Amino acid sequence: MNTHYDFIAIGGGSAGYNGARAATEYADRVAVVDGGPELGGLCILKGCMPSKTLLYAAEILHQAKHGERFGLQIPSAVPDMKKVAARKRRIIGEFADYRAEQLQNGKYAIHRAMARFVGPNEIELSNTERLTADRFLIGTGSVVSSPPIPGLAEAGAWTSDDILDLDFVPESIIVLGGGIVAAELSQFLVRMGSRVTLIQRSPHILRHHTPEAASVIETALRDDGVELITGTQLQEIVFDGSEYTVRFTEAGQPRVRRALHLFNALGREPNTRELNLEAAGVELNRKGQITATPLQQTTAPNIYAAGDCTGPNEIVHIAIAQAEIAVKHAFGHPAEPIDTSKQVDVVFTDPQLASIGLQAAELDAQGVDFISASYPFDDHGKSILMEAKYGYVKVHADRSYGRILGAEIVGKDAGELIHIFSPVLAMNGTAADMLRAPWYHPTLAEILTYPLEDIVEEVGGS
Ligand SMILES: Cc1cc2nc3c(=O)[nH]c(=O)nc-3n(C[C@H](O)[C@H](O)[C@H](O)COP(=O)(O)OP(=O)(O)OC[C@H]3O[C@@H](n4cnc5c(N)ncnc54)[C@H](O)[C@@H]3O)c2cc1C
Repeated sequence: MNTHYDFIAIGGGSAGYNGARAATEYADRVAVVDGGPELGGLCILKGCMPSKTLLYAAEILHQAKHGERFGLQIPSAVPDMKKVAARKRRIIGEFADYRAEQLQNGKYAIHRAMARFVGPNEIELSNTERLTADRFLIGTGSVVSSPPIPGLAEAGAWTSDDILDLDFVPESIIVLGGGIVAAELSQFLVRMGSRVTLIQRSPHILRHHTPEAASVIETALRDDGVELITGTQLQEIVFDGSEYTVRFTEAGQPRVRRALHLFNALGREPNTRELNLEAAGVELNRKGQITATPLQQTTAPNIYAAGDCTGPNEIVHIAIAQAEIAVKHAFGHPAEPIDTSKQVDVVFTDPQLASIGLQAAELDAQGVDFISASYPFDDHGKSILMEAKYGYVKVHADRSYGRILGAEIVGKDAGELIHIFSPVLAMNGTAADMLRAPWYHPTLAEILTYPLEDIVEEVGGS
């Protein structure tokens, strides 16, 4: 006999878990179906949390190795990768255990199996069970993609999963790609002691951020020792059993690089292949993402999608927000779509790159009359004494009232600093509002007051 639910989340990651949690407010019969080998989802198991654990260790090592800048003699600073990996496993194990407890807290049923649709209201599980539901949320995440580059599929390249599990320092490695994961993990590897070559197709890494911001991260990575090659076209990858050879062109000229390891950081794609979506009437867009309305409803009215499987921004707080919106709408409660003009983004390199709201190119494209002001970290007291001189803070505001429209920070702890703008954007605050707040001295945060003062002056004078 089929088991019937009011709501089933397929996937127990950030989207699925939060969707199920939200659904318990409206329904008694809620289930999560997750067929992964471990409960926890990408963020906890193989994404945000392990990568940030390792990056922080690499940052401490880097500071220790450069102790002389502070007048410190630290005779030896070397990684013990077995211990670094063990610490990561312990921390991630605790997070995963906690999530597994939350998933098994009795508020909803949990089915540990893979699901595929047999109709818009029914799924079949890999253990042959069949479940029916009035509403579904698809939160099946993403998988590493392998573009059709000759030799890549056969080469057996590492993915981010492998890098995060390393318990030794690879002697040499070629990183393919220049997105967030490539940039963050290249810095981790080079700081731990690997010889790293990063090969990127576009003229800049981090192509979803401004070229100005990306250039600062490129300088920092190069200063750390990464050989960073941009504006390339990959031609061929060969693995001879001991070494990888990557052939590519740079500005039309043939180039070759060799290393003992290869890291495919070329991207991820929505994980939908096994879901048999046709049976449910759920369609995909050109990018292979599940087509969804701004309230996350798919082309099948009782089926919603959230997180990496639908995009467009594959980050955790968006997955959670999408799931909550989907659930509200699915149960007939008022829901607001995500306000894309107020999004926050962080790249956890050192220096970090963080942005919020709209940047100059987007404001120009929308015909907004705005003013911008910026200030560099190498002229700010707190960052000078911290030897944290990369980068700048830039603020955009509307010309009439100085309402904050967006900001970009590249610098030490930018991912923390950017959140000073979060409530301001949410409340449509102005530069003058922000300056009415107290700013403690000496802090990194007070650097924000300089561009804010410029904006207030310009708005007042116009
Ligand atoms: C290295 C790395 C670092 C990252 N760092 C950050 C960061 O710092 N900040 C940030 O915001 N984001 C980061 N991300 C992205 C973030 O991890 C993802 O956006 C987020 O975890 C996606 O959540 P999700 O719920 O959509 O998918 P997932 O968490 O992947 O959950 C999908 C779940 O569905 C299950 N599943 C799949 N198919 C089926 C099926 N057919 N039946 C049943 N179950 C199924 C899987 O087992 C899995 O548990 C990072 C990603 C990577 C790879």
